Amino acid sequence: MDMTVLACEGCQMLAIPPKYVCPHCYSEELVETKVSGAGRIYSYTTIHVPPERFAAHAPYHIVLVDLDEGPRVTGRLLEGEPVIAQRVELQRVDDSIYWFK
Ligand SMILES: [Zn+2]
Repeated sequence: MDMTVLACEGCQMLAIPPKYVCPHCYSEELVETKVSGAGRIYSYTTIHVPPERFAAHAPYHIVLVDLDEGPRVTGRLLEGEPVIAQRVELQRVDDSIYWFK
C-alpha cells in the first residue's frame, strides 16, 4: 500500500509526517509524496504497559521499519512476531498508526 510522506524541496530527503522542517537541511519547503510502504524491520520493542487507549492490545510490539526509500517509521504488526530484518509492507493507516504485515 502506498504511503504518504514528506519530501524536502531543498534536498529531496524524505520524512515521516508530522514534520515542519527537513531533518536534513532544515528547509521548511516540504511536500507530500508517495512511497511504496515496503521495507525491513530495523528493530522492535514489546509494550507491556500501554497508554490507556491501547490497553486491550497489550502486550504488543512496536516495530521500527526502514522503508526502502529511506525514512524510518514507527508502526505495528498486524499479526505474528517481529523478526529483525523481516520484510514488511504497509497494510493500512488507522488513527496515525502504521500497520505493517
Ligand atoms: Zn532538506
